[in-house]
Amino acid sequence: MKLIGLLGGMSWESTALYYSAMNEEVKRQLGGLHSARILLHSVDFHDIEKRQHSGDWQGTAGILTDAAAGLKAAGADFLVIATNTMHKVADEIESGSGLPVLHIADPTGEALTRDRIKTVGLLGTRFTMEEHFYTGRLEKKFGLEVVLPDEKARTAIHRVIYEELCLGTVTDDARALFANVIDDLQAVGSQAVILGCTEITMAVDETNSALPVYDTTALHAVAAVERALQ
Ligand code: GLU
Repeated sequence: MKLIGLLGGMSWESTALYYSAMNEEVKRQLGGLHSARILLHSVDFHDIEKRQHSGDWQGTAGILTDAAAGLKAAGADFLVIATNTMHKVADEIESGSGLPVLHIADPTGEALTRDRIKTVGLLGTRFTMEEHFYTGRLEKKFGLEVVLPDEKARTAIHRVIYEELCLGTVTDDARALFANVIDDLQAVGSQAVILGCTEITMAVDETNSALPVYDTTALHAVAAVERALQ
């Protein structure tokens, strides 16, 4: 089994989900007392979040590249960056550390393609929804049409992610917000919805989603195990 390099802490609430999901998948595939081989570098999210919101993406890339280089030096075979947003600097982290990145959008794009979904809604931080690094990959590599919530909803979702979900808080209001946004995405033609932020799975499930849900946290974790077991 290959050694998974996990770059986490963004937030730790979702990294805990990765840790559990990876071990569950190894147990499912190998049984018995098998568990995932994981090296985790969990950063202080405060340092990352401040730089994100001041536009210092080079600064975030520096912190994460150093962490990834440490994982490589300690023997990791590939890298799982446990956040959608920080894939904005995935290429820099990969080239700077020399550790191949398992891109978070790819298992999701593959699952949507397999299920013949063509038009898909995307929920995430404003960075993930509004910039090209994520939607562009889904469009170019997988031929998907990506539908975004409107401006007001994007602002509300971004706030809930940073002020609630990343702190482990899940309110009924947040669950209702996601339900309404997903209804709107369905009304404009989305066939499914991507939970494109690794914490959103805490607040969305089949009971408050009118659309089939593609959870990047779960899909990324399972893809990492598949690669580790190849
Ligand atoms: N975990 C989140 C994501 O998947 C947001 C936190 C971050 O900015 O990294 O985008």
